[in-house]
Amino acid sequence: MRRKFVAGNWKMNGSLVANEALLKAVVAGASEMTGVDCAVCVPAPYLAQAQSLVAGSNVALGAQTLSEHVQGAYTGEVSATMLKDFACQYVIVGHSERRSLYGESNAAVAAKFVAALNAGLTPILCVGETLDEREAGVTAKVVTEQLDAVLNAAGVAAFAKAVIAYEPVWAIGTGRTATPEQAQEVHAVIRARVAEGDAAVAAGVQILYGGSMKPSNAAELMAQPDIDGGLIGGAALVAGDFLAIVRAGA
Ligand code: PEP
Repeated sequence: MRRKFVAGNWKMNGSLVANEALLKAVVAGASEMTGVDCAVCVPAPYLAQAQSLVAGSNVALGAQTLSEHVQGAYTGEVSATMLKDFACQYVIVGHSERRSLYGESNAAVAAKFVAALNAGLTPILCVGETLDEREAGVTAKVVTEQLDAVLNAAGVAAFAKAVIAYEPVWAIGTGRTATPEQAQEVHAVIRARVAEGDAAVAAGVQILYGGSMKPSNAAELMAQPDIDGGLIGGAALVAGDFLAIVRAGA
């Protein structure tokens, strides 16, 4: 039986003052929820602050991206070992904003996934189609190509130590959520693809849904057989909303 996992993606939001209030509330609320995994993926400059605020709690720490390189002349980049220095357990890889705004290709995403794993981080691999792709009927093809790039680079066994997030691009930050049936259909495609490589790995891998998940729709999404939690953007910035979503997974 897979545990549910809810991760917040703060994106480029926050301040020392706002983070402290948010994390104190999240840590306090999450302390009562033992049947669910929970993490916050904060902007890199706030990792030290977040590390101390979540220390000893059941809220894990994550980052939002990383370099595919180990170290060296890569101005502005952050390595996997640097994230480990601040007790990060998770790192988001291949978020659609990284793919669309910063030109991250499937190959680049795969390299980052491998770099995360090599350092002992758990990558949260994001895949998802645009609205045009959905309307053209190529959702499964697009998502499978994104997944295959990583399966080919890292091998299916790597997914025993990774998380996948299905995030339809048209649902991210738009208030428009995939229906539970739409999301389940793609989650099943993803799990089946992993199962072609290794059925046991596929049965164990957590596949999160992301895209305007909120307290009002979290429970019905997570009730689907292949939806194992959520990757939460906007609602992760409001402690009560984030905690309500975590509770829906408990
Ligand atoms: C995200 O950015 O991963 C996300 C799911 O955002 P939102 O919840 O705001 O749609």
